[in-house]
Amino acid sequence: MAAGTAAQEGKSVLVIEKMEKAGRKVRITGKGRCNLTNARPPEEFAEQVRTNADFFSTAFAEFNNKATIRFFERLGVKLDFERGDRVFPHSGKAWDVANALEEWCRDNGVEFWFHTRVTGLLTLGGKIFGVRYINRRGFERKEEVAQVIVATGGVSYPATGSTGDGYTFASEAGHEIEPLRPSLTPLVSPHPQLKTLHGLLLRNIRATLYVDDEAVREEFGEIGFSERGIEGAVALRMSRDAVDALIDGWRVKLSLDLKPALTAEILQERIRREIAEMPAEEFFAELLRKLLPKPLVMPVCKELDIQSKTYIMRITDTEIDRLIALLKGFVLPISDYAPFEYAVVTAGGVRCDEVNRYTMESLKVKGLYFAGEVLDLDANTGGYNLQIAFSTGRLAGLLKQ
Ligand SMILES: Cc1cc2nc3c(=O)[nH]c(=O)nc-3n(C[C@H](O)[C@H](O)[C@H](O)COP(=O)(O)OP(=O)(O)OC[C@H]3O[C@@H](n4cnc5c(N)ncnc54)[C@H](O)[C@@H]3O)c2cc1C
Repeated sequence: MAAGTAAQEGKSVLVIEKMEKAGRKVRITGKGRCNLTNARPPEEFAEQVRTNADFFSTAFAEFNNKATIRFFERLGVKLDFERGDRVFPHSGKAWDVANALEEWCRDNGVEFWFHTRVTGLLTLGGKIFGVRYINRRGFERKEEVAQVIVATGGVSYPATGSTGDGYTFASEAGHEIEPLRPSLTPLVSPHPQLKTLHGLLLRNIRATLYVDDEAVREEFGEIGFSERGIEGAVALRMSRDAVDALIDGWRVKLSLDLKPALTAEILQERIRREIAEMPAEEFFAELLRKLLPKPLVMPVCKELDIQSKTYIMRITDTEIDRLIALLKGFVLPISDYAPFEYAVVTAGGVRCDEVNRYTMESLKVKGLYFAGEVLDLDANTGGYNLQIAFSTGRLAGLLKQ
């Protein structure tokens, strides 16, 4: 976005990309479908930006979600609007988004060098004058230019090319880097039953995140379980707070309300009704099967310390109360989080108070600009992170002084 914008403004633009093609990460976004933005109104959009939302507001004002939608439609990418105002290409292919951007850049005269890695910025007397790079044959070279936009992304999913080089460049140029943490990353729980849940996706769950026994966040939606940890949109959104709390040494836990549509009283009526309709010699596990997905039956029995083959007529009122309490609050202690390799975005980055919010130019080095995830900006899942990249890329690409 930054390169195409600068070219449209009449600049001669070179993109130096270390991978074999442009936008490797964009091509895997949204599970290969690319949730390219979110169509919510501006105030609601801002609420989803987790860091430096105020700083981001100027870039968003220059090129907002509506502008992104118009932009891609003009490039011929038909769009679909899905649940939660998430916007996807109608083709369901993230490649179409990446290809459209690259073609637009080329049409505007942008030159691309692939397999070429920038190794440092050339600065003198507080001004940029170029970059050092290693070319595809492995030779170190210099390219002298008056303006440089660093859009090297974060450190998550490093196999896509984002290995955090931009933080080193910024730091060498005198910028402070806000500590980097994985965000939108699976959460790790030592709960002994979790291994049996791998592959399970629970929909319509209300989850509450507790930090040192205080409820700090509540979310509604999907929770999934895999060998990486607890994931799904709800867990990923919670990870932003959970990771910071774990780093600070707080006790963290997640409480899942598995029956959010039912109050404890209504749930009790439902359970009593189910029991009344079941033969007395039916097993407790059969009752649970009527209430829960199959993979949860054994973990719930273990958690309640009730044998799955206990006859339903033997279940006491106290045990029913404990079952209800568990269904309304299945507690998973959180001890860790998945590393950058599995994190959707990187929290932290180039400090925003050292960057001009109206231009994206460095306040330390003239002619140096930043765009995208390299900045200390991150947001929830739902198309917000790509919009951050598009908005800041657009503003940086204007190369305003
Ligand atoms: C699995 C996954 C799914 C995601 N899904 C979504 C989604 O659906 N919606 C959404 O909004 N966000 C999503 N995101 C987040 C989103 O992809 C990123 O926030 C966004 O791509 C950041 O854009 P960027 O241009 O700042 O960095 P990147 O897209 O990471 O691009 C940085 C580029 O710089 C290149 N580079 C780095 N260092 C150098 C160097 N030294 N020399 C030359 N080139 C270099 C890299 O190779 C890379 O091509 C997802 C992320 C992941 C990992």
